[in-house]
Amino acid sequence: MHVMVLGAGITGVTTAWFLAKAGFEVSVIERQPEAALETSHANGGQISISHPEPWANPSAPMTALRWLGREDAPLLFRLHADRAQWAWALAFLHECLPKRTQHNTEAIARLAVFSAAQLRALRAETGIAYDHLERGILHLFFSPKEFAHNTAKAPQLEALGIRAQVCSTDECLAIEPALAHLRDQLAGGLYAPDDESGDACRFTQSLAARAAELGVRFHYETTITHIAHRHDAIDGIDVRDRDGRTGMLQADQYVVCLGSYGRKLVAPFGEHLPIYPVKGYSITVPVLDPSLTPSVSLTDESRRIVCSRLGDRLRIAGTAELNGFDTTINAARCQAILDWLESRFPGATDIAAAQRWTGLRPATPSNVPLIGRGGLSKLWYNTGHGTLGWTLACGSASALTALMSGGASPVPDFPFLPARR
Ligand SMILES: Cc1cc2nc3c(=O)[nH]c(=O)nc-3n(C[C@H](O)[C@H](O)[C@H](O)COP(=O)(O)OP(=O)(O)OC[C@H]3O[C@@H](n4cnc5c(N)ncnc54)[C@H](O)[C@@H]3O)c2cc1C
Repeated sequence: MHVMVLGAGITGVTTAWFLAKAGFEVSVIERQPEAALETSHANGGQISISHPEPWANPSAPMTALRWLGREDAPLLFRLHADRAQWAWALAFLHECLPKRTQHNTEAIARLAVFSAAQLRALRAETGIAYDHLERGILHLFFSPKEFAHNTAKAPQLEALGIRAQVCSTDECLAIEPALAHLRDQLAGGLYAPDDESGDACRFTQSLAARAAELGVRFHYETTITHIAHRHDAIDGIDVRDRDGRTGMLQADQYVVCLGSYGRKLVAPFGEHLPIYPVKGYSITVPVLDPSLTPSVSLTDESRRIVCSRLGDRLRIAGTAELNGFDTTINAARCQAILDWLESRFPGATDIAAAQRWTGLRPATPSNVPLIGRGGLSKLWYNTGHGTLGWTLACGSASALTALMSGGASPVPDFPFLPARR
């Protein structure tokens, strides 16, 4: 059976890989000249099993209000006259209810634990290198109140099968000595030893090369202009190549992995994907002094900023902005990340050589991805991974492959499509 995967970000490439390994004939359509050149290009690098709680949680509305109007706010709503944006924001508010947060956290945690195991198995099988580190993630708290509030979550994480250790300031410094000069500011931390970090772009591009060796056909520089349908089934994919030539590509089944751009392409046949682009930024800097630069991946919970050591580079990422499909780099928002780096790790990296990047997280209001069957025959989804696309990629692709093979879901109690609607 021939499956056509639409999009070659981390989600599309892992989907293609798992399907090909299961014996499907696979082709991939991607508008860019290579895989992982959009949102999967320069993300925070964290395999963050220990952060299943979505942004939509009971404290989110107050946090957003507190930061309202601040250009450097970690969470910024730029409201437009855009129905999709308002509908998403209202659905997001609904997901902030305690019961919804609990339900979503549990679903994401189950998928994240499964996904981490799939990633480890894939790494062992392929040996692909992507500057990965298995040193865990240390969540940092700079106020005693925040520390007390968040460390109370450790038993909940343990109950979900996620190891998390509450750490005093001294214990944080023992885990990551580069934090030494922050001793007086740090209230404590939460350490998740099973978390990992690594370069999602290097991983995706290497996996795409392996998938091509397995026989997956990649149609790069091929833009999907329309998804054609007839009698409640997908008929084919209308595309335009880099020379402007148009045509239709056909397969037996189709999987949408188009990040933030899938919603508009499926809307004409009545599919309403609750996905909205949530813009984020990252800075990548060369390491100058390794002894001053963290190698354990860090999450600064007060600023919603993460950092990951990627070989001789440090990646710092964060901020969330609802601003449509705008991908221009906002100087103030990048500066907020650079200021964080300068204040937390002075002299560690070459800030003058910083590479600035922005990407659009394909976010559902609940942060639970959309995996499973679509509303039309031959249509499948693996999309909407929001803040955790790198963390959840291998598990989502493996689970979708099981569903498409007619098998049972390997992730118990996960709200796969279409049952969740
Ligand atoms: C600042 C930031 C930090 C992040 N940090 C982390 C992190 O630390 N850990 C984590 O787990 N996640 C993180 N994420 C989230 C993660 O990066 C995303 O969830 C993930 O990259 C989404 O992958 P995707 O394949 O769904 O989308 P994409 O990577 O955007 O892939 C979609 C692909 O579809 C293609 N496409 C779209 N439209 C068309 C068309 N019409 N025709 C042909 N091709 C098309 C695009 O070119 C693209 O390649 C972060 C995101 C951001 C922005």
